[in-house]
Amino acid sequence: MRIIVQNSKCQGHARCAAQAPHIFKLDDAGYILLGDIEVAKEEELPASRGARSCPEHALELDRAPG
Ligand code: SF4
Repeated sequence: MRIIVQNSKCQGHARCAAQAPHIFKLDDAGYILLGDIEVAKEEELPASRGARSCPEHALELDRAPG
């Protein structure tokens, strides 16, 4: 699974990182770092929780294989 990060939507709420700090890395100002996130199979649950917790819909789940 992959998480497509739309940085322009991020408002720095840090809710994603509160759910899964090892998956969602923030910069010093609390905004998500640039770049999509590859998620290992065993991390899919916390990753989807984190993505769904974003009030700005900046984190889109991509479950397409490959
Ligand atoms: S929850 Fe959404 S708005 Fe908040 S830091 Fe994460 S991506 Fe950005």
